[in-house]
Amino acid sequence: MAVDSTLLNTMRVAKETVVAIEYTLKDDQGNIIDASGDRGPMEYLHGAQNIIPGLEQGVDGLVAGDTKNVLVPPQLGYGEYSDKLLQLVPLSAFGANTPQVGMRFHAETNLGMRVLTIKKIEGEEVTLDGNHELAGKTLHFDIKVVSVRAAEPTELAHGHPHQSGGCRGGGGCGSGEASGGGCCSTEEGSEGGCCSTEEPAAQKQGGCGSGGCGCS
Ligand SMILES: [Zn+2]
Repeated sequence: MAVDSTLLNTMRVAKETVVAIEYTLKDDQGNIIDASGDRGPMEYLHGAQNIIPGLEQGVDGLVAGDTKNVLVPPQLGYGEYSDKLLQLVPLSAFGANTPQVGMRFHAETNLGMRVLTIKKIEGEEVTLDGNHELAGKTLHFDIKVVSVRAAEPTELAHGHPHQSGGCRGGGGCGSGEASGGGCCSTEEGSEGGCCSTEEPAAQKQGGCGSGGCGCS
């Protein structure tokens, strides 16, 4: 039986496919929070929790060329905002460093390694916020599916897509121009990514680190 090329061209997004999407992410007010834009399409392994659950559900079943608006509530995005993730530390804890509101850094907490943001500085007290910056937000994605293909066995084993043999891909190790250091360099990995300083907002926290990207 001859291979039907129209079938090949219409592979649907499903578990064990590698999907590339372009997206624009807006908040409730219509402000653009993030966009694939200059970074190019974000590639991820579907069904491997590379991206937030609500977006993954929204892409499921689509084919290349499809566009869609996907509304993601906090519980399927970055979670509800929790006051429990606020903590006070003394200014002296920063030693010689001068903390500033808005500064972000990694720290070990009782919930594991998290990105903390300095929310407030009052006298000798610094308020740290362990919520993701998009926690509590409803996310409005405008997406376009660029491509859908079957995942390679090594991609399934690693839990993220590979590009041209390496392990640099949207869902894997942080995409974007900031990956000069290659996949998973230790330089100030942002939350979620292991090497890009500019993490795609659609990408789920922990996208790469634990999966280990020593795969090139
Ligand atoms: Zn890999």
